[in-house]
Amino acid sequence: MNAPVLDIKNLIVRFATNDGEVAAVSDLSLSIGKGECLGIVGESGSGKSQTFLAVMGLLARNGSVSGEAIYGGVNLLTAGERALNELRGNALTMVFQDPMTSLTPHMKVGRQLTEVLIRHRGVDKTTARNEAVAMLKRVQIPEAERRFDMYPHELSGGLRQRVMVAMALLCGPALIIADEPTTALDVTVQAQILDLIRRAKDELDTAVVLITHDLGVVAGLADRVAVMYGGRLVEIGEVHQIFRAPQHPYTQGLLACTPRLDDPATATLVTIPGQPPNLQNLPSGCSYHPRCPYVMDRCRVERPVLTPGVSGGLKACHLDALVQGAA
Ligand code: SF4
Repeated sequence: MNAPVLDIKNLIVRFATNDGEVAAVSDLSLSIGKGECLGIVGESGSGKSQTFLAVMGLLARNGSVSGEAIYGGVNLLTAGERALNELRGNALTMVFQDPMTSLTPHMKVGRQLTEVLIRHRGVDKTTARNEAVAMLKRVQIPEAERRFDMYPHELSGGLRQRVMVAMALLCGPALIIADEPTTALDVTVQAQILDLIRRAKDELDTAVVLITHDLGVVAGLADRVAVMYGGRLVEIGEVHQIFRAPQHPYTQGLLACTPRLDDPATATLVTIPGQPPNLQNLPSGCSYHPRCPYVMDRCRVERPVLTPGVSGGLKACHLDALVQGAA
């Protein structure tokens, strides 16, 4: 891994609810290197999105956070709103699943883009317009000049997502956090959006965090994969190692649920048996134990910590080695 762009240490995210406190993320540590794409994978509620909303200072009001998220020598978790506002949309950007939650509906696309440039780069209006149109062309928006003067609702879902990617790239960010960026899109547009993100990573050396529930999405883009379950990191490693020889039964289960394009027999929807854990009442020991086909007595009482796996990477599992292809 190149020098870290973002270094997360011992991150804990909690939410106060009417039914008590919920630990959404527990003691998470990981780094993202310059120009690297790190895939963050897990089911809904695994903590993958909350981790990066916390890092960006965008947690819901009932959320609280502790630990460190170091960017450029600054701990983002304690940096304060003014410093975060300087970094967000500039050095650190996000692309969400639903662009309508991030684009302002009553403001033309062009103005939303130029305001980012004027605010963060201090350029004049003409320069901002020229750069914004050039970026719309770069993300392959046809008739970019005409689209510049449209409102978000006048664009298709795929074009709106391209606008979001354009906005994320405008200031040459050091890190893009893409949270389920293609989930709502059809397969062709999905591939095009992922290709845009790949080009940003390759051409601008931008680090990318790609958050998804779908291991298939990270296969062609990520360099490393981090797998989360019940708010904890359960496996992390190089993408080829995770796909060839996963070390954690949950990763193995996720892979077994991922349809392979070269094998139509896998196209039927399969899911891991059982339900994701209730974060308010996590199972004792290993929180995956109620669903794990390899569960042992020890798993019910002793929570496994991250240790090196036999084929590289780290895994939090009491098994010494996982039988491959057994899930
Ligand atoms: Fe399964 Fe035990 Fe490993 Fe947890 S620690 S994943 S229950 S084998």
